[in-house]
Amino acid sequence: MQQADYQLIIVGGGPAGLTAGLYAARARLKTLLLEKGATGGQVLVTDWVDNYPAFPEGINGFDLIDKMTAHVDRFDLEKQFSTVASLDLAQDIKTISLEDGNKLTSQAVILCTGAKPRKIGVKGEEELRGKGVSYCATCDGPFYRNQEIAVVGGGNTAIQEAIHLTKFADKITVIHRRDELRATKILQEKAFAEKKIDFLWNAEVSEIVGGASGVESLSIAHKDGTTSSLPVTGIFILIGIVPNNEVLPLDQLETDESGFLITDTEMSTTLPGVYAAGDIRSKRSRQIINAAGEAATAEQSAEYYLGHLE
Ligand code: NAP
Repeated sequence: MQQADYQLIIVGGGPAGLTAGLYAARARLKTLLLEKGATGGQVLVTDWVDNYPAFPEGINGFDLIDKMTAHVDRFDLEKQFSTVASLDLAQDIKTISLEDGNKLTSQAVILCTGAKPRKIGVKGEEELRGKGVSYCATCDGPFYRNQEIAVVGGGNTAIQEAIHLTKFADKITVIHRRDELRATKILQEKAFAEKKIDFLWNAEVSEIVGGASGVESLSIAHKDGTTSSLPVTGIFILIGIVPNNEVLPLDQLETDESGFLITDTEMSTTLPGVYAAGDIRSKRSRQIINAAGEAATAEQSAEYYLGHLE
């Protein structure tokens, strides 16, 4: 193969990127993990992880990432904290351009860029962001001590975080567009048993109302055509995720209709030498354990591609 700076570059340092890095460092591939912020991704802002094996008591998201990072550090994985501007992945030698103007080359690449919160796209959402509009209960929950707030969504994230918010707020209204939650049954049972949580079914937020002092109320559109106003000082919008694909060469890679990358079962994208793992992939189950497992597969696929494994 032609010469490149690295045998493998991993883009993104969440659980997928860290696991790919762990396997690559132990395989002694010349590897670089590129991360724009701190390692950890979405798990960093997850209050409690109760379903990652080997932690029978559960573990705080921050602590889990701390352990994953310590694990890759033990094998001297090279990490660089830089923002990627663009990637050219179609050639044998892949080129990654950084925002600082530098370019890096690699023989193989694993894309672990993850996903970010979806917005509801109503008036007041942008204007009041950080002034009562939040996408992270773990980060902002403590600001709402003894207040009345709302959570939008009916999935695992919304229900788990609504339960978490009972530690702070006096009352939490979960606003869901249907009359049935998508969240797993055990979370539903916990939420239904929680006195501080109320449900507003078949309802959507049509406007977030507020001013300089922050959110004051929500305009609600009900499925039966009526409208109402809900006085709250905070709204947590937890309605799923969209892919972090802005810097990816979407003209070179195949994606689903939402922009998540399509791979085969070996985590190969449609380009030779380019793999994907974690939340950036098109898939149904987005768990930390999936991200880690997919990353192990992706790294081994890269090793086969590089001729490191036969
Ligand atoms: P999700 O499962 O996709 O749920 C999104 C929720 O938001 C759904 O209830 C959906 O309503 C609602 N929604 C979507 N767009 C909306 C809009 N424009 N307006 C109003 N409501 C809207 O997303 P998630 O809860 O973030 O979970 C993402 C993934 O992470 C899932 O695979 C989940 O299982 C996983 N996760 C797991 C755990 C855990 O195991 N403890 C914790 C957190 C997340 P509909 O139901 O009507 O579609």
